[in-house]
Amino acid sequence: MFADLHLHTNFSDGTYTPEELVHQAQRHGLCAIALTDHDTVEGCLRTQRACEAVGMEFIAGAELTAEQAGNELHILGYGLDIQHPRLLAETAKFQEVRQNRIREMVGRLNAENVPLSVDAVFALANCRAPGRPHVARALIKAGLCTTLDQAFEKYLKKNRPAWVPKFKISASDAIDLIHDVGGVAVMAHPGLNRTDEVIPGMVEAGLDGIECFHTKHSNSTSEHYLELANRHSLLITGGSDCHGMSKGKPLIGTVRLPYQHVEILKARMARNRTEALSRAHSATPVLLPPN
Ligand code: AMP
Ligand code: ZN
Ligand code: FE
Ligand code: FE
Repeated sequence: MFADLHLHTNFSDGTYTPEELVHQAQRHGLCAIALTDHDTVEGCLRTQRACEAVGMEFIAGAELTAEQAGNELHILGYGLDIQHPRLLAETAKFQEVRQNRIREMVGRLNAENVPLSVDAVFALANCRAPGRPHVARALIKAGLCTTLDQAFEKYLKKNRPAWVPKFKISASDAIDLIHDVGGVAVMAHPGLNRTDEVIPGMVEAGLDGIECFHTKHSNSTSEHYLELANRHSLLITGGSDCHGMSKGKPLIGTVRLPYQHVEILKARMARNRTEALSRAHSATPVLLPPN
């Protein structure tokens, strides 16, 4: 029994619809998946329904853009209450900033005499959480670039002409938000950042787990983070970070997390949900009878 706890759909920068994603998960024999779109939970309901239809276990999640000590970090939230007003308000903020960032990136492209329109990017993205991969794909569609790599190398990578920094919240605010809405906070793909020095601070802030298994982690990188997880008593998660066809070949199926880790994650989800509910309850003002 295996799971994939890091997946994207076309509600952010993946290319699969929720239904296509679940179909692929089934093809690869997975028994549980989590959806972790960037800065949105909008795809969760459809993914959950598609999972229910085929008897697959589903965990609602998101991948939040955060920073710690000047480093961009991605924090995965699992077991989120996807109707929670605070979660919806906070992700709406992220999405508005992402949309403005697209406008700014296109403005910079135009200043470089690259005639891409904002509408072309939004039409292609067709979601509230657009990102650079959508700009890259729109450039290719308009015949202005030939490959994703070329679009990133020429325009979109950090410090290239159309690069615009991304809005981030602090890692501890991301962890707080996830806890507040009943979820479990996990540091995504630490091997990509290689900023292990930020981990103790995040543990202090309440981090629940580390994504030890990821497509871009070598065996020795995974071993290293398993050891770190052990040392800090953190949960262990893993996923492919599949974006559908947007990065050439679909990654789903390449990282298979043994189901025992999902059981442990689910126990923490239940605990965090109970704690969030009891905090919300104790914060409710008590109405005193009038004198
Ligand atoms: P954004 O959230 O807008 O900053 O975009 C980040 C996304 O762009 C992530 O999914 C990255 O994996 C993807 N990305 C970054 N560099 C490249 C690249 N050279 N080619 C394709 N995708 C990339
Ligand atoms: Zn992405
Ligand atoms: Fe990420
Ligand atoms: Fe991701």
